[in-house]
Amino acid sequence: MPISEFDLIRRFLQQATAQREDVVLGIGDDCALLDVPAGRQLAVSMDTLVEGRHFAPGADPVALGYKALAVNLSDLAAMGAEPAWATLALTLPGADTAWLESFMTGFGALAASHGLQLVGGDTTRGPLSITVQVHGFVDADAVLRRDAARPGDRVYASGTIGDAALALALGRQPGVEVPVELQLRLDRPTPRVALGRELAGRAHAAIDVSDGLVADLGHVCAASAVAATIELARIPVSATARGYLERFGWQPVLAGGDDYELLFCVPAEIEATLIGHCRALGHEISRIGLVEAGTGIVLVYPDGRMSREVPAGFDHFADA
Ligand code: ADP
Ligand code: MG
Repeated sequence: MPISEFDLIRRFLQQATAQREDVVLGIGDDCALLDVPAGRQLAVSMDTLVEGRHFAPGADPVALGYKALAVNLSDLAAMGAEPAWATLALTLPGADTAWLESFMTGFGALAASHGLQLVGGDTTRGPLSITVQVHGFVDADAVLRRDAARPGDRVYASGTIGDAALALALGRQPGVEVPVELQLRLDRPTPRVALGRELAGRAHAAIDVSDGLVADLGHVCAASAVAATIELARIPVSATARGYLERFGWQPVLAGGDDYELLFCVPAEIEATLIGHCRALGHEISRIGLVEAGTGIVLVYPDGRMSREVPAGFDHFADA
């Protein structure tokens, strides 16, 4: 790699995130050296954002830096893990210092707020693509797996569902102004790390909503060999999103994805205690359904109609 690019890396990446004591050796050598706390397991996850596929050409680099890390932190949240380290593979069309500085502003601020340190990565030239790998710690007996939901569990969702999908759909319509509160939910999803850590060792199963509420809960049901019933009237929908429900129907809420909220299954015996505890800490969580014996997901509409089908959406949801 030319010396200028090497300098770039050092300048922007080395100090951009938290500095942790368990990093024996960070950016600068052939490998990072990391101390995993004795008795804990390492939770590892990776996500890639590709220009033209996951974001539009010319997208704000600050928002990209934030989102590239946020979607990875969301996976740690869904396992109940404590974020520790990240590695970053950047493929850049050119050595654009301003872009990289902005990217690291978004990445670094979110990393610092979670005590996470960037410990290494790779930088190559090519069409813009961003891959982040995160590493977190979990206690073996407290981890939130997809395969641990049980009949009788209550299904909960954090935050609100459908905002990001609506921002995406509205943004694709020429001349339509996307309400800022929806756009922010698409560009700056909040990884529910603190909530995940409260649920660890208590909830039975969890997943983050990246593909859509029904699809992601479907992953939990399939892995756990259970069914679930969802009451649509109970799904938390923001006031702004509610205003679009009539026009778009339930599709963005049920199938939209990209909200990075948590879906989790709580055993009935501890429901009151756990939910009271989480709410007292300020977490917004809503009970949306029930885990049952069987397979698949049953949707109960506000008028009582039941269906196993997610309604088809407009064309612009095709690859949402
Ligand atoms: P090598 O040729 O030994 O693989 P590199 O020149 O790719 O090393 O990287 C030098 C150092 O900079 C390494 O410590 C590497 O982890 C780090 N690094 C390179 N690119 C990135 C990046 N995008 N983010 C974080 N660290 C990076
Ligand atoms: Mg390398």
